[in-house]
Amino acid sequence: MKYLDEFRQAPVAKHLAKKIAESAADREMVFMEVCGTHTMAIARHGVRQLLPGSIRLISGPGCPVCVTPNRTVDHAIALSRRSDVILTTFGDMMKVPGSTSSLDREHARGGDIRVVASTLESITIARKHSEKRVVFLGVGFETTAPTVAASLDLVRREGVDNHFVLSAHKVMPPAMEALSCGDVRIDGYLCPGHVSAIIGSDPYLFLADRFGIACVISGFEPLDILYAIQMLVEQVIERRPSVQIAYKRVVKREGNPAARKMLYHVFEECDSEWRGLEQIPGSGLRIRKAFSPWDAEKQIDVQVEPSREPKGCLCGEVLQGRIRPPECRHFGKSCTPGHPVGPCMVSTEGTCAAYFKYNIR
Ligand code: SF4
Repeated sequence: MKYLDEFRQAPVAKHLAKKIAESAADREMVFMEVCGTHTMAIARHGVRQLLPGSIRLISGPGCPVCVTPNRTVDHAIALSRRSDVILTTFGDMMKVPGSTSSLDREHARGGDIRVVASTLESITIARKHSEKRVVFLGVGFETTAPTVAASLDLVRREGVDNHFVLSAHKVMPPAMEALSCGDVRIDGYLCPGHVSAIIGSDPYLFLADRFGIACVISGFEPLDILYAIQMLVEQVIERRPSVQIAYKRVVKREGNPAARKMLYHVFEECDSEWRGLEQIPGSGLRIRKAFSPWDAEKQIDVQVEPSREPKGCLCGEVLQGRIRPPECRHFGKSCTPGHPVGPCMVSTEGTCAAYFKYNIR
């Protein structure tokens, strides 16, 4: 707790906010955070309220649960309906609405769906239930994918032949490229701290070089975020877009080569569909051929129903930073965390959930 206090000192926060306000007094700037943990931290610590009106913070596709398209949820639901399958997943996916159901509803109907804290727990379930096929629904970015890769490597080495992964993993830089090509104004990116701990800072260089967009990798405490915003403001004012690390206690320029080695030993990049951003070239991670005996998509046949989006849900717009959640007609009325219409209200890292929880209107 003492360690965290260091990054939550109110006088320092006020000082940073004052410096930002002075620097950005007569210049409008739009900064996008592309990490769900940042979205929550910004809302929880009231960072928006500390900033001058000239700076607008918008949220991007940083919540892995939110960007997972309905088709993947429908696929997991179809798998869970097989009597020979136990479906395992992290808790956030349970309530995410698919086209006509959710894992939570399927569980209530008797489907064998289990929330696990790690892929190792999922493998333990597979070992205990050799008569079943255990499928882990893997959702996440470069941060979680290496642990899933390590679990696939483990089941191959140890000959666990009844544990599979349905991979919906994604990588962040291609999504940032797609956003930068779009028509939403972005002067700077608050780059994701956890993802960057794995990939390092170089994969963002093209954003500064090709698109002239400022990039700063930030931590998650209020002072981390304010410090990163101050660096973004300086880059914009001085017209010298670059990639800076404001989270040096965790992120190194080279990232984590060992984690990346494991990641690409098991996965290879592929085109992937993102909610709101459609198909993005090279933005997904599929399981390599050498690991296909443990790839649920290849090994377990299911009929997946045709996907359809929840009526009136604007998650796709929210995830591109086009609108703020209160602009959706469902927000806080027919859509709440207790009764979510779309994934951005379900996830603990969702933008709609952050706005609702911290009463941002
Ligand atoms: Fe979708 Fe609900 Fe957010 Fe509207 S408020 S965009 S319905 S999740």
